[in-house]
Amino acid sequence: MPYITINEERCKGCGLCTIACPKKLVAMGETPNSLGFTVAVFSGPDACTGCALCAEMCPDVAIMVYKD
Ligand code: SF4
Ligand code: SF4
Repeated sequence: MPYITINEERCKGCGLCTIACPKKLVAMGETPNSLGFTVAVFSGPDACTGCALCAEMCPDVAIMVYKD
């Protein structure tokens, strides 16, 4: 089942990944990282297709996509 990971320390909280995901699986969380940015969170792999649109959109290369 495909899934993603979000590197919280790379995330700048821009929210672009939340717009990019066609399944609405990425949302902004409430916990800031060490730089004070509120980071994106993945809601779970149930509907993830591994399309990688979220990762391609991220300007900070914070998202990794796994397809196995
Ligand atoms: S890989 Fe595709 S479906 Fe999965 S979280 Fe990213 S944008 Fe959404
Ligand atoms: S696109 Fe990247 S930097 Fe922006 S909120 Fe998503 S993971 Fe964070």
